[in-house]
Amino acid sequence: MTDSENANSNFIEEIITNDIENGVIKSPITRFPPEPNGYLHIGHAKSICLNFGLAEHFGGNCNLRFDDTNPTKEETEYVESIMNDVKWLGFKWANLCHASDYFDQFYAWAIDLIKAEKAYVDDQSSEEIRANRGTLTQPGVESPYRNRSAEENLDLFERMAKGEFDEGSRVLRAKIDMKSGNINLRDPVLYRILKRDHYRTGNKWCIYPMYDYAHGYEDAIEGVTHSICTLEFQDHRPLYDWFIENVSVPHVPHQYEFARLNLTYTVMSKRKLLELVTSKIVSGWDDPRMPTICGFRRRGYTPASIRRFCREIGVSKTDSMVDIEFLQHFLREELNKTAIRMMAVLHPLKVVLTNWPENFVDELSADNNPEDENAGTRTIKMGREIYIDRGDFMEEPVKGFFRLAPGREVRLKHAYIISCTDLVKDSDGNIIELHCTVDMESRSANTADGRKVKGTLHWVWGGDAIPAKVNLYGNLFTLRNMNDMEEGKDYKDYLNPESLVVLENALVEPSLATAKPLDRFQFLRHGYFCADKDMTEASPVFNLTVSLKDSWAKELKKL
Ligand code: ATP
Ligand code: MG
Repeated sequence: MTDSENANSNFIEEIITNDIENGVIKSPITRFPPEPNGYLHIGHAKSICLNFGLAEHFGGNCNLRFDDTNPTKEETEYVESIMNDVKWLGFKWANLCHASDYFDQFYAWAIDLIKAEKAYVDDQSSEEIRANRGTLTQPGVESPYRNRSAEENLDLFERMAKGEFDEGSRVLRAKIDMKSGNINLRDPVLYRILKRDHYRTGNKWCIYPMYDYAHGYEDAIEGVTHSICTLEFQDHRPLYDWFIENVSVPHVPHQYEFARLNLTYTVMSKRKLLELVTSKIVSGWDDPRMPTICGFRRRGYTPASIRRFCREIGVSKTDSMVDIEFLQHFLREELNKTAIRMMAVLHPLKVVLTNWPENFVDELSADNNPEDENAGTRTIKMGREIYIDRGDFMEEPVKGFFRLAPGREVRLKHAYIISCTDLVKDSDGNIIELHCTVDMESRSANTADGRKVKGTLHWVWGGDAIPAKVNLYGNLFTLRNMNDMEEGKDYKDYLNPESLVVLENALVEPSLATAKPLDRFQFLRHGYFCADKDMTEASPVFNLTVSLKDSWAKELKKL
């Protein structure tokens, strides 16, 4: 992953380049083939960027194809979210395809296989089939139904399709080799009976094709040249080819495998993500702690940072674990250039400026983004009562603490130098207010006295600051590599109890009231935040996108 040459070219690109040079293809056709049984996660983003990216790079086409062959788990809600996420990432599909559009063709090819005595109806139960499949060291056992005649198989298969038999009572299997060293070739199941309505084909079918059987045919029908999937399908490739070779297809596709993306401190399987949602451990698929694309979106991530990440991690043939900090690095790099700076006080502590002229309200100028000269400035108002963050004051400062303390001076960002003279406590001894004097000569706009003050604090004016809710998000899990779970433990045993800290009483600059959903800001000294998608002017909510500290910037410089 730190392999920098990997970042710009990868082995699949080389294969395509060769295919073009050798005249095998003019330009590639790829596809991104999600099963609509959940929302897309960042692992899918890698596949999306790869498939769409290759098509773009070589002037080819990439289809978005719903691999909707299993009616038990598929829903329109997922279909819509997937289209939305692919578009948000910045890609356009050449064709919107559905495996379910090819059900008639799949059925016709199954009939061809039966007629050629390459497929048979098996009456064994799924347990028997599993038991007879053998193991890595032991060959499988042939089914007693394996040598049925083509006529009998045709009759049974047609009746399966008509709904004459119960679910689980019969399947259609390929007749390949029960002794094959590759278990995938031991008479794999092609069709099973499922008496379920399909979200697109309704009740037309009560038999549904298996993934392995259907996938290559989908590629063949669409003219896909490079069918790219994750490594776990490497051992299925001979089967992919067998299906293609044994019927007459309009086009011969080829499968290539790459390593799936794993990310630290999270899980990436749809089954687990679904469980987090249904058990209400998170607020939904788009909970900002989820590794889903919609979760990252709600968290404030940009499509460009995700695309950049996917490009930089490269494409390899060995599975690896990628640091979430690596993704955050690209996000910070972008937000540093684009996010408007704002002041937000997350844990407010009142400060009274005792010598501030009565009723005076100053108007100060603040740059919106020092990294972007076109970002302009805004006016911020200041009066006698301001708020700073509690963490910026210590009654008895420890060594190395350069912020406010009794008798100490600090500068207020964009404003004046203040000095703490007194503090007020409640009956429990909690500090509830500070008294400070302000040096009216130190206004940042008009003094250049060169006075060195060690600390600069962000602040808001009590006269116009607005209350806001701020959600501080952390990793959803405490274990860096979720593949390292202790034996007997469940992934839910590693949930981070502090993955969400809600601050109900933050105070922010008034202009943030009119922030639009998903607008991104840097809250000075705190991090990057975005307006929540459901926020309103009456109740502003901001989500922590990412803190300011970047652990990867240094690492990348070394490379
Ligand atoms: P899950 O195992 O989480 O259910 P899946 O692989 O079954 O995921 P699909 O909807 O079939 O999900 O995936 C669509 C495409 O995305 C496939 O081509 C798959 O290889 C790819 N993909 C899924 N997860 C990852 C990942 N972590 N890294 C890279 N590609 C992935
Ligand atoms: Mg899958």
